[in-house]
Amino acid sequence: DVRVRFAPSPTGQLHLGGLRTALYNFLYTRHVGGKFLLRIEDTDQTRLVPGATEQLIEDLLWAGIEIDEGPGFGGDRAPYIQSQRTQLYSAAVEQLLQSGHAYRCFCTERRLELLRKEALRTRQVPRYDNKCRQLTAAQLEQLLAKGTPYCIRFKLTSHEEPLQDLIYGSVAHNVSETEGDPVIMKSDNFPTYHLANVVDDHHMGITHVLRGVEWQISTTKHLLLYNAFGWQPPQFGHLPLLVNADGTKLSKRQGDIGITQFRERGYFPTALLNYIVSAGGGFEHKANAKPQLLTLQQLATEFSLERVNAHPSRLNAELLNDYNQLEIKQRLAHKETRLQLVQHVQQLVKQAYPEHNNLDLAEAHITEVLQWAAQRLTLLQDLTSSKLSFLWVKPHNYELQHLSVEQLQQLLQQLIALHHFHKDELNVMLKAYAQTTKVKFPILMKTLRGALSGLQEGPGVAEMMEILGNSVVFQRLQESLK
Ligand code: GLU
Repeated sequence: DVRVRFAPSPTGQLHLGGLRTALYNFLYTRHVGGKFLLRIEDTDQTRLVPGATEQLIEDLLWAGIEIDEGPGFGGDRAPYIQSQRTQLYSAAVEQLLQSGHAYRCFCTERRLELLRKEALRTRQVPRYDNKCRQLTAAQLEQLLAKGTPYCIRFKLTSHEEPLQDLIYGSVAHNVSETEGDPVIMKSDNFPTYHLANVVDDHHMGITHVLRGVEWQISTTKHLLLYNAFGWQPPQFGHLPLLVNADGTKLSKRQGDIGITQFRERGYFPTALLNYIVSAGGGFEHKANAKPQLLTLQQLATEFSLERVNAHPSRLNAELLNDYNQLEIKQRLAHKETRLQLVQHVQQLVKQAYPEHNNLDLAEAHITEVLQWAAQRLTLLQDLTSSKLSFLWVKPHNYELQHLSVEQLQQLLQQLIALHHFHKDELNVMLKAYAQTTKVKFPILMKTLRGALSGLQEGPGVAEMMEILGNSVVFQRLQESLK
């Protein structure tokens, strides 16, 4: 049975890259059938951010990613939090010390610092020189007797076989030639990433590891660790770098913000997922096809790991908005989801205008506004922009000044005869009305604006009427006649 895991470190927010990794693991298990595990890699206690794990889980669930096993989700390989699994790592280290695959390193921070400085001076990549591999039994005994602090390092050896990457193909990288022996357990008895990751993937029965390509070099070390333990390694696939459309690194400015912020801005989960997938490969490429919005389930059905390629995954920022607009349209098309949208808008408007108690939040009104918005806006939040406040805030006791009641009633009759409110037609009609009644056009506009919105300025009156729709326009005009 396929078992995959998402193994974030709770050192900050879930970003697009992290969600991409989680998503691809999830799509893979849902496609082939299997389990999706969440494991919290919190062995670097100095970088922990309080609340990060909870936030991360909330973001994953929001995206629709179901966790089959994980902290708080059950599973027979618990605990799923590394800081609660320390005995397992100690036992593993013991095994490696016994078999001679690991050794104690007594080098001081000062010595390591000098090595680094020396390397930089001679323009070499800093690396540990594996000095403590050479300690004799007598030296070792002496150091231990004195209580000298030490860490444990893993002996890197030459690779016999290249890594068979599910996405990159055969990758030959001989780490023992480029790196010093890595620390696997720190002097505080906490394991490092490499050790904990391998031990857990093994004990949790992970069959496939899909993670960002930045971990590919680590994987070559992990394979040596599996070998040293005598364990069968999982299969590894590395996901290409996620970049902007122009190939540059994602930055905050270009939208590489936390998933929580995408949520707060009002993006729908499917929009975000389709956006990620549009960059990442894994799907049949249909040339010149219009963006299509797939549900998570459909994505899982259509996903294939063979179609993920090794090119950097380019994100086209505009697509995110297109997808979100598509999502609004789709939700409007079905009664049940339409009702949810309406409720959502009601909430947003109430939040945006907490001081008003005369908000226009009738379902019919919101539905009409949404029909209009679905062709133009990308986020529901945009409906609460100040330019559109007239949609929601009803005019308050508007006093007709320049127009008589009769004149306005007459206008109302003409408006009722118009079936469709379209700004161009409305403009023609209003101009004609001003001419025949000899009301000055600017005065007419000013009056209508006031009666409809209570505002002195804002969008064009005809446009405002179009957006408000017939029934609300009639209501508000009638209101001003009272
Ligand atoms: N804890 C690592 C991270 O933060 C996990 C990498 C992996 O998937 O092995 O991304």
